[in-house]
Amino acid sequence: MANKPIGYHLPLIKFDNTYMRDLAGFYTPTISPNFPSPEKILFNHELAAELGIEESQLSAAALSGQEPPEGAAMIAMAYAGHQFGGFSPSLGDGRATLLGEVIDRNGARKDIHLKGSGRTEYSRGGDGKAALGPVLREYLMGEAMHALNIPTTRALGAVTTGENILRDSIKPGAVLTRIASSHLRVGSFEYFHARGEMDKVRQLADYAIARHYPEASQTENPYLDFLSAVINAQAYLVAKWMSIGFVHGVMNTDNVAISGETIDYGPCAFMDRYDPKTVFSSIDAHGRYAYEKQPIMAHWNLARLAETMLPILHPEEEVAFKMANNVIASFQDRYTYYWLQNMFAKLGIYEPTPEDSTLLADMYEIIKGQNVDFTLFFRRLADALEGNDHVLDLFDDDELAALWLERWIKRVADADIAADMDAVNPIYIPRNHLVNDALEAAENNQDMSKFNQLLDVLSDPYTEREDLSEFENPAPIDAEPFRTFCGT
Ligand code: AMP
Ligand code: MG
Repeated sequence: MANKPIGYHLPLIKFDNTYMRDLAGFYTPTISPNFPSPEKILFNHELAAELGIEESQLSAAALSGQEPPEGAAMIAMAYAGHQFGGFSPSLGDGRATLLGEVIDRNGARKDIHLKGSGRTEYSRGGDGKAALGPVLREYLMGEAMHALNIPTTRALGAVTTGENILRDSIKPGAVLTRIASSHLRVGSFEYFHARGEMDKVRQLADYAIARHYPEASQTENPYLDFLSAVINAQAYLVAKWMSIGFVHGVMNTDNVAISGETIDYGPCAFMDRYDPKTVFSSIDAHGRYAYEKQPIMAHWNLARLAETMLPILHPEEEVAFKMANNVIASFQDRYTYYWLQNMFAKLGIYEPTPEDSTLLADMYEIIKGQNVDFTLFFRRLADALEGNDHVLDLFDDDELAALWLERWIKRVADADIAADMDAVNPIYIPRNHLVNDALEAAENNQDMSKFNQLLDVLSDPYTEREDLSEFENPAPIDAEPFRTFCGT
């Protein structure tokens, strides 16, 4: 705030830092970084307004963590995590700071969190920094998911730090300001459970119940109902991901939010051509987090959460185990319920019958191995109700598809549903090649114009606009296979 008029005082942000206040021993204070020249490159005015924050209350130095606003928490949270199946007992915010909590316009509590703000107690060998590319990717992905009505953390802003950091090559450093319902993770529970600190697991569960699932506090077994609520939220979330072709990439338990929001966008991407085995992350050599495995991995992650809670579910081990098993087993049915709900809506089927399940299963058969763009397939279906069968152009060989399409038209037989279908089948998604182009221009040429245009297009993914056809299509089929590098 170099040009602050004399006598002008920024109104203070109304922080209410419950995590810091109520959970001593669950975090460590962070030290403010020393960046050469923090500069704002993005600020989300719409989100700021929801949070009751004005841009003038958050300078670039504040958003870098360097000059925390009055009342900020400035703490790094402790957590553990199962990473690609192996347990790391001590992870924590190695490059992030909780600036604090605020209550938004709807009365919801939100974390304001800085990612890339320097080393902390939990940094281990890392530099505590973030490169501009991944910061921009997380910004864009979170905002795109939000516009697609998928629970997610969001981006309030981004600053460059004026520093060059070493990754696979030298990259500009940056800090993302992330907004989340909270940063409680499955890994937060694992951290204390692994240390045998069950009193802390209980304390964390009480905090999480009060913050996210207050209805559970009134029941006979609040911890069981809490577990059940988290399972439900994750089943809902992953069903959304699957319906839209999203691949998270790193579904480690430290990246699974108790709130049910999508969190920690690293090497994530949207699938273009339908292939259930799609993997984007260069660090996922065995396809553990491939598209088709996401529900299974979510289920696995939730079992890890249940394990941490066994002793507080019931004093008798056997009873606790049975309780946990029953509730964990419910994931599959809940997931299927939400998934069918999403998929039938995408097909314009509102009162599904058992035959509709066959129609859906056959749909997956016909799109398999055909290089069909997953997003455009659904988007173009509705056009067939008005006699335009360009959905068939998406197939290498459309013979079986044409038969299926006839069945589908006969089933829905109502052109009036086209608008409802368009409202759930986006036309614009963050296409990998477009995201990459935008990030490259920003990183290499300090050119934010492509990024800003893409962000703008993705803020309204369901409304077709005439001049935006380049945002609609996948990369040419002979383009290089797409990989995203963690590059954090
Ligand atoms: P992520 O891959 O972002 O989910 O991070 C996994 C763990 O590694 C978390 O504990 C992070 O805080 C930590 N981490 C990732 N990158 C860095 C870094 N550059 N410096 C310090 N810690 C990091
Ligand atoms: Mg993470």
